[in-house]
Amino acid sequence: MTVKVFNMVKSQINKISKQHNINKNICNILQNPNSVIQTNFPVKINNEYKIFQGYRVQHNNICGPYKGGLRFNENVDINEVSALATWMTLKCSVQDLPYGGGKGGIAINPNDYSSNQLEDICRAFTKSIYKYIGSNVDIPAPDVGTNAEMMNWMTDEYEKLSMANSNLSNQTSTFTGKSIEYGGCEGRDQATGTGVAICVKEWARKKEIDLKDKTFILQGFGNVGSFAAKKMISYGMKMIAVGDHSGYLFNQDGFDIDSLQEYVFKNKSLDGYLGKKINKSEFFALEADVCVPAALEMEITEKIADNLKCKLVVEGANGPLTENADKVCFEKGIDVIPDILANSGGVLVSYFEWLQNKQDYYWSLEKVLNKLDLNMTSAFDKIYDISLKNNSNMRDACYYYSLKRIEGIYEKRGFH
Ligand code: NAD
Repeated sequence: MTVKVFNMVKSQINKISKQHNINKNICNILQNPNSVIQTNFPVKINNEYKIFQGYRVQHNNICGPYKGGLRFNENVDINEVSALATWMTLKCSVQDLPYGGGKGGIAINPNDYSSNQLEDICRAFTKSIYKYIGSNVDIPAPDVGTNAEMMNWMTDEYEKLSMANSNLSNQTSTFTGKSIEYGGCEGRDQATGTGVAICVKEWARKKEIDLKDKTFILQGFGNVGSFAAKKMISYGMKMIAVGDHSGYLFNQDGFDIDSLQEYVFKNKSLDGYLGKKINKSEFFALEADVCVPAALEMEITEKIADNLKCKLVVEGANGPLTENADKVCFEKGIDVIPDILANSGGVLVSYFEWLQNKQDYYWSLEKVLNKLDLNMTSAFDKIYDISLKNNSNMRDACYYYSLKRIEGIYEKRGFH
């Protein structure tokens, strides 16, 4: 399955490079990550040492240091991480950030471990990749299954190693997505989901649609999904169905977002919350204006896309639509706001955090959210205009913009 994800992103790069005559060398370079790092490290779990496998893929750094999250999920493998790292290179370029793309992770279910064990795993993983990362080299962040607390442990471990090995202090900008008390950025927790919602707002503005009382369905009620839902509900929209790894729930009157958030925070899943239980096929076939996949890759297959009844799919997750599902949406006239634009609010605010750490000067929540809104809106408008000019969908417009930017930098710097 994960080979398919990596092939999908490579095929998208190939297609747009050919269509727009992008320098062939760039297409070849972007088909292969610069470095693939795999580490095996022991951690004592219940009196026995267990060997964990950690990955870090550094895809491309022509635009700046590698940047991208760390995923703790049972399905993590080298192909999935490579696909996600490639998307990061393209995503950072859509937002004109001075970053390249990277991604990493461990194939574990974090819910199988106690907090103390997770801290040991995070610290040991950091030690194992210490020499490959750094504030101007490769900057990890949270992704599925990781959070601010884990970034704090990793940053602390990294800072101790830097002090011991090189007498270097203040290395907090090596990781983003940390807690506020440890140099995190106000608003980072809500940045990705809020950015997803801003894209919906901009799409509606372009289409002259009033979002009040419009409905949406949401797959994945984690960091991205929950904050996207909160913001969309603040526009007057109604979430009529929601799903996570434990199942799917329907409520025609709409879910109360605060009580749902509280329930999931306490119970770690939607299981047992009020609402009619439905299955995954029924969920995606519901009549709703907007569909927000915010869980994992390849969740919307061709068959599921055939049954979609929405006007817009906004990709909160990375790669939630298969290539064929994307084609089906296009044929059915369903607009798709692609991942590398829709969820780019996360890396954007990570960039804000990195800047603040480097300057040791911190911004208010209001300033962060204003800048997030401004940057997301202008990125959306830029891509929307390209899609009109190129007579393409927004995914192709994103790839075109990213590849052109990367081509411009390679042509000035050279390929050596
Ligand atoms: P998270 O771990 O906070 O939440 C993931 C959600 O997906 C959970 O609700 C989980 O129950 C659900 N889920 C997992 N497996 C599922 C399955 N098989 N079926 C249905 N639901 C399932 O993760 P997140 O940070 O919200 O990330 C979600 C997606 O957004 C991922 O694709 C991630 O790469 C992408 N993303 C995250 C960020 C970020 O800042 N966190 C930034 C950009 C992109």
